Amino acid sequence: MTSEATIVDLHCHSIASDGTLPPAEVVSRATANGVEILALTDHDTIAGLDEAYHSANDNGIKLIPGIELSATWQGKLLHIVGLDIDPEFPPLKQGIQILKDMREERAIEMGKRLARAGFSDAYENARRLAGDGNVTRTHFARHLIEAGVAKDFTDVFKRFLVPGKPGYYRVDWVTMEDAVAWITGSGGVAVLAHPMRYMLTASWLNRVLIAFKSAGGEGIEVVCGRNSPDDNARSAHFARKHGLLASQGSDFHEPGKWVELGKLAKLPDGMDPLWLRWNQQ
Ligand code: AMP
Ligand code: MN
Ligand code: MN
Ligand code: MN
Repeated sequence: MTSEATIVDLHCHSIASDGTLPPAEVVSRATANGVEILALTDHDTIAGLDEAYHSANDNGIKLIPGIELSATWQGKLLHIVGLDIDPEFPPLKQGIQILKDMREERAIEMGKRLARAGFSDAYENARRLAGDGNVTRTHFARHLIEAGVAKDFTDVFKRFLVPGKPGYYRVDWVTMEDAVAWITGSGGVAVLAHPMRYMLTASWLNRVLIAFKSAGGEGIEVVCGRNSPDDNARSAHFARKHGLLASQGSDFHEPGKWVELGKLAKLPDGMDPLWLRWNQQ
């Protein structure tokens, strides 16, 4: 059986979205780091799950099929992690197709904007870096760093890829309610990812969480990748206040540049860990 001491990482990325490792390597790296339960949660795609499953079998690690959906609620961007989803559930598959089309149109628009700012071929390069997968802002960031335009991710996002900057193009994605319904309808659990990263006031976050819960959301990431200890404590407060289960994940994308798979702070006291439902058969 699992316990709170089990090493659990329920949020990470592979080359199927904006990570740099193939799904099989994400799984073997997690295993080497001692992770016992891992969820692969690529942005708006399930394309990495088959490979991850095979690797999880070989490595003897429990893999939870996951996804991180891009959504909006009242104009606010939210990331909704779906865990233990059925990737074959038709409404979820249709939702993923909608998001894929939105991402492609958005990438083309971002490319046009960057071209007007003097950076030609940004779309083509981001598209190349994304391979068969969805283009994300991370792919544009990697290209602009490679091209010597910016020195690192922090620099490139701040100067080009956030609201008000030349490469930013606003997209409303899908509604939070739809994203949650596709996840829960498939038999999965919907989790609000990294609640401290949206820069919402406490009253806005409370409103988001009330709406999220009434849509069928059950969990909130309490411990996640780049959280400070204070972020973890504040997230725990919101979990308690709204009666949400606690999730945790590294949000790993790339060795060296992100928090490592499985290397997470301890969950604050008084939380209900969401993963206790998954035993390790
Ligand atoms: P997108 O979903 O296409 O808007 O891309 C969002 C992704 O960009 C996130 O999932 C992160 O991986 C990455 N990202 C966003 N902001 C930053 C930042 N300041 N530094 C590094 N990566 C970032
Ligand atoms: Mn990402
Ligand atoms: Mn995210
Ligand atoms: Mn993520």
